[in-house]
Amino acid sequence: METQVHGKPRGLSYENDELFFGPFQKIVRASMKAPRQGAQWTGIATTIAERLLSHGKVDAVLAMKPDPTDRWKPLPVIITKAEDMKQCRGMRMGYAPILALLEPAIEAGHKRIAIVGIPCQVYALRALEAELGLERLYVIGTPCSDNTTTENFHGFLKLLSAKPNTISYLEFRADYKVELRFDDGGKQEIPFLKLPISKLPDDFFPLTCRTCVDYTNALSDITVGYMGGQGEQWLIVRNERGQELLDILGDDVAISEPGTRGKRHKHVAGFKKNVELAAGGLPLRSMPDFVRPIVSWLMPKIGPAGQEFARTRVEMKAIETVLHLRSKIPAQMKNMVPAHIWLLVENYGLTKKDNE
Ligand SMILES: Cc1cc2nc3c(=O)[nH]c(=O)nc-3n(C[C@H](O)[C@H](O)[C@H](O)COP(=O)(O)OP(=O)(O)OC[C@H]3O[C@@H](n4cnc5c(N)ncnc54)[C@H](O)[C@@H]3O)c2cc1C
Repeated sequence: METQVHGKPRGLSYENDELFFGPFQKIVRASMKAPRQGAQWTGIATTIAERLLSHGKVDAVLAMKPDPTDRWKPLPVIITKAEDMKQCRGMRMGYAPILALLEPAIEAGHKRIAIVGIPCQVYALRALEAELGLERLYVIGTPCSDNTTTENFHGFLKLLSAKPNTISYLEFRADYKVELRFDDGGKQEIPFLKLPISKLPDDFFPLTCRTCVDYTNALSDITVGYMGGQGEQWLIVRNERGQELLDILGDDVAISEPGTRGKRHKHVAGFKKNVELAAGGLPLRSMPDFVRPIVSWLMPKIGPAGQEFARTRVEMKAIETVLHLRSKIPAQMKNMVPAHIWLLVENYGLTKKDNE
């Protein structure tokens, strides 16, 4: 499908970051010069979509807005007016059937469409693309490490704060901290190591997410994330159409070269040990309590950052895929593990077996 969408598959060598991030023309660090209020980061995803509508390049955008009964629940919507795109700013936690809006959008006469979606939505979209009969399709993807049900997510918020209903924003930042914002303007930062992960139910992240092989949304035209951005956003321009989407922001976006810092190997190897224990049903290796604050303080300063952080997370996801599939549904491995995943995990002692 990478060849179908981009005209070439990702390069499969360690010297080429395509092994980690999928086919691309360039990767940049970026921020809207005037960050959009209510956006998850600076609002690049929704501003691109807004401009596509205001420049008349599309008739409709399919995206998520908050459900009126629960601000964390994603509600798929067809947006046809540029000024309405602001309703879709920010991240919701949960699954929602955005592709179910393709038929109504096409029936309403929309032939040029843009979609903002996470990787699993974009895969299905690309599989359907040829039969949709669209004149134009723009795909703005975001990375996605893991998703869960909105109900589960509310359980997580309750573990993080005594006033979970007043949490208006949450992000797992690339500096190893979760940022929370509250309705009264308050902010809180919680180091990853202090998160109550062990109190979450086993199925908090479903097997589909724990075995996902596409963290970075390789079939999008442009991926708009933050994981390699060192505090800014991180964009992967994958093809000509992706470049057109970036260009539409004109001078309103600040662009720079992505940075990189640190070495990932020992962090990824430590993660693998924990996943091996968890996949076998054993408790996670726990760090003594007195060490946690020290490591929490050190990680943002010395841990992998920028491009190296992004590679770290992609390798961790690849390891999770192999270990969880082996433990839960080994018969599916030959269909579900693409070649690049095996290359990513082989440095950590995981190699393909005959039946895989
Ligand atoms: C479940 C999930 C996990 C993510 N994990 C990562 C990650 O690990 N690393 C990373 O770099 N980025 C991740 N992202 C993307 C990140 O949260 C931002 O959306 C992205 O950086 C764009 O920021 P922005 O300010 O440009 O977005 P905005 O301009 O605020 O737009 C946000 C867009 O996200 C869409 N959206 C919101 N919630 C959902 C949802 N539940 N499902 C589908 N689409 C949705 C909306 O339609 C909207 O268009 C994740 C997003 C989701 C939904």
